[in-house]
Order: sequence, then C-alpha cells, then structure tokens
Amino acid sequence: MQLPAVGNQMQVTEIYKSLQGESSYAGLQCVFVRLTGCNLRCSWCDSEYTFQGGHKMTIEAVRDEVSRLSPGGGRLVEITGGEPMLQEREVVPLMQQFLDDDYRVLLETSGERPLERVPTGVVKIVDVKCPDSGEGGTFRLANLTTLTPRDEVKFVLSSRADYAFALEFTRKHDLSKRVNAVLFSPAFRKEANGSRDSSHCLLDPQELAEWMIADDAPGRLGLQLHKFIWDPALKGV
Ligand code: SF4
Repeated sequence: MQLPAVGNQMQVTEIYKSLQGESSYAGLQCVFVRLTGCNLRCSWCDSEYTFQGGHKMTIEAVRDEVSRLSPGGGRLVEITGGEPMLQEREVVPLMQQFLDDDYRVLLETSGERPLERVPTGVVKIVDVKCPDSGEGGTFRLANLTTLTPRDEVKFVLSSRADYAFALEFTRKHDLSKRVNAVLFSPAFRKEANGSRDSSHCLLDPQELAEWMIADDAPGRLGLQLHKFIWDPALKGV
C-alpha cells in the first residue's frame, strides 16, 4: 500500500520499546506507538498524560522510528493511546503499512469509534468499558460484527458490579466464540507507585480468580504485567 503524501501528520505522545504487559501477547517485546488524545475519561485512567500535548509526526516518520526500535526483533507493534481511532485517517494507513512490512500489529481501542476500517490482519484489543470506569455504555455495539477470531476483548474491573457486567456481556454476546481471548483484568489505582504488587489493584486478583472459578467464567484473568515488573507510576514501559 502506498503511504499517503508526506505531510499527512498524526499527533504522537511517545514511541518506545518495552514488553507487552497485557493480552495474550503479554511478555513479548513490543514497540508501542502511543497517540495523543482521548474522548473518554475513565476514572482509573493511567494515561492521562496523553490527553494533550504530543508532537506531530508523519506516517513515514512513525514507521522509521518503529523500525529503528525493532531491528530484527519480535516485530510486534501496538498502536495505543489515548484513543488511536480518533486519528483514523492516519492510523488506518499506518497499520496497513506495518502489516505490509510484516509486523504483527495490535490496536488497543475502547471500541467507541467505528472499527470497520481497521485493516484485516490487525489484532484489535477492545477495552469494553465497565460501569465503574464512569464510561460504561460507550462501546459501540455495531463493532461486535467487526470482531474476528484473532481479536481480543478486555474488561478492566474495579468492583463486583464491573465483574457482573463483564460476565453478562461476555455470555450475552458469546464473546469466547467470537474472539481469541476475553480478558478480565483488575484495574490499578491511578496514584499507584513504589511497590510492585497486587495491593495497588482496585479489585483483588485473588477475589476475581475465585469469582471466575465459581462462575466458570468464559475468560482469562489478565494482570498488567508491566506494573509488576516496573514501578507502577513509571511511564514509557
Ligand atoms: S479510553 Fe484509555 S486513554 Fe481514554 S480515558 Fe479511558 S483508559 Fe484513559
């Protein structure tokens, strides 16, 4: 696919290499392209620094930087934010370019924006907002038809009510048959810092595990690996 004309720029907060902390790709080396701007305001958001600022980069410059950071490595790239699909005009051709360059491409999105134009081959990791995020009900139900067996759906949980919502949504829409993984992930406290342990979780992972076992929940418990490896307050990891 031809790149759009240079000058077609996107607003980027940061590009960095780390380990993937979530999803079924957790533990793999990954280059993250974190785009600026979000139209939601989740109560536990750990990425508020993406809401403003950043710098303009052409699609070609983003591609070059990702290539520099992954010299023959795992060639896994995640487009995240903020909400990347707010920059759909630029991010769609960028993702297609990465696919053409033989990257495995992950897209982290709330699913509030339409996902129909996401290129085939991209792994969509859709973070369906639960009630206690303060943004419940923002997932665009029409996006369910765009989900494929390579995609993943994530629920970030901070309470029993969130868990009940996630379980009901998963069963109602038969998500475990539609996608590769359904992730039930405890939310972290926004102000978490210092110790690298589950005491910062808004929902105790042990409690969540016990609920899931008792309910035979059709999903997998996901922990944010990077918050157990590095100081949870650290950015760019
Ligand atoms: S969608 Fe993501 S970036 Fe936006 S407020 Fe929620 S957690 Fe933060």
